[in-house]
Amino acid sequence: MSDCLFCRIASGEIPARKIHEDDDIVAFHDINPVAPIHFLVIPKRHIASMADVTDGDAEVLGKLMAQVGKLAREQGCTDGFRTIINTGRVGRQEVYHLHVHVLGGEEVLPAMLKR
Ligand code: 5GP
Ligand code: ZN
Repeated sequence: MSDCLFCRIASGEIPARKIHEDDDIVAFHDINPVAPIHFLVIPKRHIASMADVTDGDAEVLGKLMAQVGKLAREQGCTDGFRTIINTGRVGRQEVYHLHVHVLGGEEVLPAMLKR
């Protein structure tokens, strides 16, 4: 049994509102959405963060990226969306299993980060 929250969601041990699952990835609604549409896409394989990605992860992560646009449209992002990958302490990552946030909905997102 893994002690990683998102590994446990990927395996089905912890429930989540899944919107997609295949051999390599899972997508599910964020439990604490910060936009009208907010879901996460993760590799089933445990990769702690973007800082830990290696060449061997390229195929799975390519497959992940290939699903994002289709999933976003299916969830109602008809006019674009934002993707965020928080990495490590500076990136304020909270769950150390690589995940892509997909955020959308009308006029809810601030402009790109500014100081
Ligand atoms: P991070 O800050 O690591 O980029 O984002 C972690 C995200 O995971 C947060 O947006 C948080 O709301 C979400 N999250 C944390 N625990 C759970 C959970 O048990 N289920 C789901 N669906 N989302 C979670
Ligand atoms: Zn994990």
